[in-house]
Amino acid sequence: MNIALIAHDRKKDDLIEFVIAYLPIFSKHRLYATGTTGRRVSEATGLDVHCYQSGPLGGDQQIGAMVAQNLMDLIIFFRDPLTAQPHEPDVSALLRLSDVYKVPLATNMGTAEVLLRGLSEHHLDWRLEEKREGRNGR
Ligand code: PGA
Repeated sequence: MNIALIAHDRKKDDLIEFVIAYLPIFSKHRLYATGTTGRRVSEATGLDVHCYQSGPLGGDQQIGAMVAQNLMDLIIFFRDPLTAQPHEPDVSALLRLSDVYKVPLATNMGTAEVLLRGLSEHHLDWRLEEKREGRNGR
């Protein structure tokens, strides 16, 4: 599965902690991330993470482009609800596209835990079928 990791600045430590906690699961999948998040996760865990641009420079949109091609299977996006983001329109666009393509997306640790457990118990295998059969998710 292709998994996207994104965390706003004040949530990056939480995301790193989360990835470390679920390392055996994350290590079985392909990881993509916005620039700073990806570099920090990779440094902290040793995992191979494909890093796009930093979020404010277009990284969320690059991940959105993967969603639009139905190539992204799961998104962990720890948002900071208390800080204004200069790239808020990009953030909204990514959330919207995830709904268009029915891509499971967690914006906080509680939901992310449920998704990771679901992933490890094969509850998200329908994503593989969608891709294999070339369905566009809608
Ligand atoms: P960053 O981007 O990982 O490059 O900090 C995340 C974001 O703010 O969307």
